[in-house]
Amino acid sequence: MLDHLAFTPPKPKVIHGAKSDWELVIGLEVHAQVASNAKLFSGASTTFGAEPNSNVSFVDAAMPGMLPVINEYCVAQAVRTGLGLRAKINLVSAFDRKNYFYPDLPQGYQISQLYHPIVGEGEVIVDMGPGIARRVRIERIHLEQDAGKSIHDMDPALSFVDLNRTGVALMEIVSRPDIRGPEEAAAYVGKLRQIMRYLGTCDGNMQMGNLRADVNVSICQPGAFEKFQETGDHSHLGTRCEIKNMNSMRFIQQAIEYEARRQIAIVEDGGKVVQETRLYDPDKGETRSMRSKEEAHDYRYFPDPDLLPLEIEQAWVDEIASSLPELPDAKKARFVQSYGMTEYDADVLTAEAENAAFFEEVAKGRDGKQAANWVINELFGRLNKEGHTIDESPVSAAQLGGVLDLIAKGDISGKIAKDVFEILWTEGGDPAEIVEKRGLRQVTDTAAIEAAVDAVIAANPEQVEKAKQNPKLAGWFVGQVLKATGGKANPAAVNALVAQKLGL
Ligand code: ADP
Ligand code: MG
Repeated sequence: MLDHLAFTPPKPKVIHGAKSDWELVIGLEVHAQVASNAKLFSGASTTFGAEPNSNVSFVDAAMPGMLPVINEYCVAQAVRTGLGLRAKINLVSAFDRKNYFYPDLPQGYQISQLYHPIVGEGEVIVDMGPGIARRVRIERIHLEQDAGKSIHDMDPALSFVDLNRTGVALMEIVSRPDIRGPEEAAAYVGKLRQIMRYLGTCDGNMQMGNLRADVNVSICQPGAFEKFQETGDHSHLGTRCEIKNMNSMRFIQQAIEYEARRQIAIVEDGGKVVQETRLYDPDKGETRSMRSKEEAHDYRYFPDPDLLPLEIEQAWVDEIASSLPELPDAKKARFVQSYGMTEYDADVLTAEAENAAFFEEVAKGRDGKQAANWVINELFGRLNKEGHTIDESPVSAAQLGGVLDLIAKGDISGKIAKDVFEILWTEGGDPAEIVEKRGLRQVTDTAAIEAAVDAVIAANPEQVEKAKQNPKLAGWFVGQVLKATGGKANPAAVNALVAQKLGL
């Protein structure tokens, strides 16, 4: 099986500064909330939108003497994600304490994996158009706890803390600085999201904050990145700034664009970029400093004494590997190959696993290209327009397949098929029955079509003369006949008869 399509890398984005050309270098640290009903080290629920502080166990609240117990399911989800990103799974990993004080962090430290992450190096293929893709290397994925939430806008004088999110499992997915432009950065996050949704390891809901990214940006002169790639020497790259906690694809792109231009202006002015953490303000469209490297926390990492090193068995990893679904790259390649569709169509159909499954049910035993057209243009077009997802579709795969069968049998034309689709959408029913009951069956009876053709020719002598000079005008007659027969005449038969009668 083809793992992914052959591709060429896109050109890096170039920004023309006042004095020279600049390229971007971008690396992302993505925080993905593990899809799990319980937290990483406690049995408390992870349900979103619950009454504040109702999903908090004694462990999450850091009551004295409470001990964390690792949630095996969260570990399996991290392994599953690693396998989905073709990454190395570390059979031994360990948890460390990252110490800092914050009101929404009752333990006074976050349990994370600094020294020995559960997942090592992997890769993501980021599609940037037909035949064009960037390979972005993954450095590591580690498991860690999320913090709670401080609420400052409920009372003018008081702040509140909601610990529902405290202790929820996160996967931090760290990329190498392989991304070369704002669009690529957004596409990378989109691809990670897609893969994790296929895997069922993160729902990817960015509005709820279940997928967010810290974006590292630096600028360099053309050629410098290639030197870095050859040597692995970071000194070829510019100093980076990190933009924290981005949870919108659009803002990620805007923030990178702004940040690159800010850095270019500094460097071209003879200054130096200072390594720091910045925040993006979407209202102003700019990034501003949050803290510099000098003020950076000393987290005093050390191995968490409450948790033994995490040892997993290869057999367990293999079991998880054998349960992985077909992933987007493989599915896309298969769709292109076996249905003969374009990469673009394959992208649309494989965006979500549910969409792909629906399409395959429609295409089974039928013309794949035609099925793709109908699913994309009629069904998805309509679903998008009405803001529905595929599982809310009023037309089922079996119903749509039934419509395609009627076209294939010559019972209805493509035009009537759209009317049948409309009836299915609004009223439901069985396609064949609808065609029968409403008398939509295509007229293939040549005598009836011939009569209609004769009538149109007789009524339009001027057009007949013109068509004899210019055979392209025959199409006009075909259109008139189809109109006269309410779209029920078989278009192929009409075409043939019109040509014959006009002597073309
Ligand atoms: P640290 O050890 O300070 O955490 P890392 O080398 O682990 O730094 O990098 C953290 C993130 O920053 C990674 O996603 C990486 O790809 C990215 N990164 C590193 N160097 C650069 C650079 N020069 N420009 C842009 N991003 C970078
Ligand atoms: Mg690092």
